[in-house]
Amino acid sequence: MADCIFCKIIARQVPSEIIYEDDLTVAFKDVNPQAPTHLLIVPKKHIAGLSACGADDTALLGHMQMVAVAVAEKAGVASGYRLVTNNGRAAGQSVDHLHYHLLGGRCMQWPPG
Ligand code: 5GP
Ligand code: ZN
Repeated sequence: MADCIFCKIIARQVPSEIIYEDDLTVAFKDVNPQAPTHLLIVPKKHIAGLSACGADDTALLGHMQMVAVAVAEKAGVASGYRLVTNNGRAAGQSVDHLHYHLLGGRCMQWPPG
């Protein structure tokens, strides 16, 4: 997608601190961190969000979660972290390219705001 910021990050057209990459995913630091560790895990394939996924994306979604486990370990927050995706404007989604936020390094509140 030509005007998608995350597609541009994946293509290295926009700089970011990429901390993990494989054939299907990229993980990079959020530019506006909400916790000491705040990473974004995104598929290389442009998908607008979770509800835009189809049955053929099931394996990709599982893979993204396993990438989250690996990058949490790498970031030193394996003992406690939150993995969240905001789906839709009402949930706070601002970038229409599927992503999981991985937040750690501080105590989390529940329920989230
Ligand atoms: P959302 O609001 O869609 O759930 O999350 C989008 C996230 O992307 C936000 O936390 C925001 O800070 C992050 N973000 C937006 N633009 C950029 C960017 O250009 N670079 C990086 N690294 N993160 C970004
Ligand atoms: Zn995209």
